[in-house]
Amino acid sequence: MKALVWHAVGDIRLDEVAEPRIVAPTDAVIRLTASAICGTDLHFVRGTFSDMRPGTILGHEGVGIIEALGSDVRNFSIGDRVVVCSTVSCGCCTPCRQGNTAQCDNANPNGPAGGTCFFGGPAATGPVNGLQAEKARIPYAANTLVKIPDNVTDDQAIMVSDIFPTAWFGAEAAEVKRGDVVTVFGCGPVGQFTIASAFLLGAARVIAIDGHEDRLEMARRQGAFTVNFEREDPLATLARLTGGTGADCAIDAVGVDSQHAHHGPARQEAQDKRDKFRQEVAQVAPTTHEQNGNWMPGDAPTQALEWAIETLKKAGRLSIIGVYPPQAETFPIGKAMNKNLTLKMGNCNHHTLIPHLLKLVSTGAIDPARVLTQREPLSDVLAAYRAFDKRQPGWIKTELTPAR
Ligand SMILES: [Zn+2]
Ligand SMILES: [Zn+2]
Repeated sequence: MKALVWHAVGDIRLDEVAEPRIVAPTDAVIRLTASAICGTDLHFVRGTFSDMRPGTILGHEGVGIIEALGSDVRNFSIGDRVVVCSTVSCGCCTPCRQGNTAQCDNANPNGPAGGTCFFGGPAATGPVNGLQAEKARIPYAANTLVKIPDNVTDDQAIMVSDIFPTAWFGAEAAEVKRGDVVTVFGCGPVGQFTIASAFLLGAARVIAIDGHEDRLEMARRQGAFTVNFEREDPLATLARLTGGTGADCAIDAVGVDSQHAHHGPARQEAQDKRDKFRQEVAQVAPTTHEQNGNWMPGDAPTQALEWAIETLKKAGRLSIIGVYPPQAETFPIGKAMNKNLTLKMGNCNHHTLIPHLLKLVSTGAIDPARVLTQREPLSDVLAAYRAFDKRQPGWIKTELTPAR
């Protein structure tokens, strides 16, 4: 079968690989009817999240049909239409029972201390082969798969595999309440769903910050205020738009590939911090492989965090859902401490949130397919990665459709 395989930083290929099969009684094998490219995948190709094992199939977002079931998967039948939780979880260990399925004790083959296990990730997360493929083996399928209601389409369900629940997790971690003023840093796919989640949880005002006009335009269509940090000073603007007191909560939906301003009044701040940002990039991305403007690491790993902390109100709440590798060790702790901020972060507990979000989609409370901008066959996956990596105008979220 065809699958997108990681060979090295800057080197991914659509290879012919062996079809997956059941290896444990808790496994399932699914035929994918939809997959997607996520910003997280780009970290592995840019080198801002290292420790990938060559030969790993990429991708952690999927929708498909069950083709084979292990003997201990008792809650599904062959032919069921399912969405894949990006993080693998067993459903019966102590963290899983508490809803912390991203911290499952059994999913990670490296043991309970191995941390979050997800599809298509670095060696320390499994590695478990990913979902940008025609078929996939799903470990702990009873918990890692969720049945899709009949009236929810593939285009909607693929958004619920990772990015919508991750955003919802971030909004819940920020404790968004009715009447809150919420800032969302980053208007990529997860940022868009963070805006939607904040509104669904009752936010009175959502202010979205990004440097790309097409992404800000989509945020405005959702009703968010928008701030382009390439055109104006985000600190001054956010102070004004929050009545001078700052936001109640801020959500970082950017992560390690954060960028500083290259134009406008915020450029000076970036120049003053040039050495600090360079050191941070060297720490998180020891190996990079840029090619024709592709696979360039973000040039300011802590920029989004700095702005988020700076623009929160006193005793405000910060949540972090943007991805940072374990090597990232810089955080503006002093500024956060001296403002009495509350900080929450983590990998989304997909299994805990996905059934609820599927219900919201099924009842029409939200149509997640509004964030989908591209639909490409798996055969065009390399070109799609390059366009998404360069943040080409209009390329916000790409669904991949394997051959049927
Ligand atoms: Zn994702
Ligand atoms: Zn578990």
